[in-house]
Amino acid sequence: MISVRDRRGRRHVSVEGSRYGVLAVVAVVVSGLTACTVREDSAATIQGATMGTTYQVRYAPPKPPGDLARAIDTLLDEINLSLSTFAPTSLVSRINGATDASWQAVDRHFAMVFSRSGDIHEDTAGAFNPAVGPLVDAWGFGPGGTDGVPDDQRVRQLLALADLGAFVLETDPPAVRKLVPGARLDFSAIAKGYAVDEVGRLLEAQGIADYMVEIGGEVRTRGHHPSGRGWRVGIERPLAAATDRQAVEQVLSLNDTALATSGNYRNYFEEDGRRYAHILDPHTGYPATSDLLSVTVLAADSMTADAYATAFMVMGLDASMSLVESREGLDAYFILSDDPDGFREKWSEGFGALLAD
Ligand code: AMP
Ligand code: MG
Repeated sequence: MISVRDRRGRRHVSVEGSRYGVLAVVAVVVSGLTACTVREDSAATIQGATMGTTYQVRYAPPKPPGDLARAIDTLLDEINLSLSTFAPTSLVSRINGATDASWQAVDRHFAMVFSRSGDIHEDTAGAFNPAVGPLVDAWGFGPGGTDGVPDDQRVRQLLALADLGAFVLETDPPAVRKLVPGARLDFSAIAKGYAVDEVGRLLEAQGIADYMVEIGGEVRTRGHHPSGRGWRVGIERPLAAATDRQAVEQVLSLNDTALATSGNYRNYFEEDGRRYAHILDPHTGYPATSDLLSVTVLAADSMTADAYATAFMVMGLDASMSLVESREGLDAYFILSDDPDGFREKWSEGFGALLAD
């Protein structure tokens, strides 16, 4: 079993068991995270820690020349130093701390994630909004926040800062400036997915065409497992970590797909009998509430899947499903709590087609 505590000592991870006997469930994660991978023999594996969670890379041998594990760690460190609000010296932390509107040079990671964030922000009518930084802290889910429920007036004040338009990106050369001093970016809902894609691209550049990369439950697969079938990825049953067990609800067989899961059943706190989870509704400033326990999104790349999964937790089932159905290349799987006998599941057609036998 793996167990990870965040900075406030909240426990987020538990891994154990499998419904497939000899196949062991090997990874799951932090911050409401909810996907896991099912290990089989004969793929080469590299594992490590990044972004407050674990990562895993599996690929079909042979191993390329050079120290692949080291190249992956170097890349992940570089991404962290660009995008992590938990790293005080990161690029995003420096921009968040800026008090004037001067241009600040950014790297390719920042430029790419910021720009894709803008697209998905727009496509989800603001449900995905990385400018929620000040609110995330106020609710105690960020690097510098206080614990407990902030008062109404404070939420309203901070809501005014949750405006992605407060940041302007210039691409040539890449630079950002902040028009509103108190505005802060939080890429936690998209950065892991982006990092997964980057590791995937690194493998491709090394001539590896068959691989699976996973960071904290966000996944990207290409090609096949060495056995010739797809990469098997399990979606966790949405149980609070308190059980110390991880049960797999569905298993997918993936080839050239990425997947990300968001959930509200693990990263939350309770006050006065009410539960407050870490995904915020950027329209209200309060934690998103719906009967959704988790949303898993399939897309061509993991960054896209990651951002939409967070947005769908805010949008709820109906709005998310209609968006999925009108977008080429997006699929989704929803686990809802509204069934008195347990969970209810809903999925889009493309998701059903990928369920493993
Ligand atoms: P994820 O686990 O990918 O769903 O990301 C959740 C994290 O993203 C939270 O812990 C916050 O740091 C941040 N976040 C919360 N609500 C939103 C939102 N509506 N849009 C973008 N990021 C958010
Ligand atoms: Mg996300």
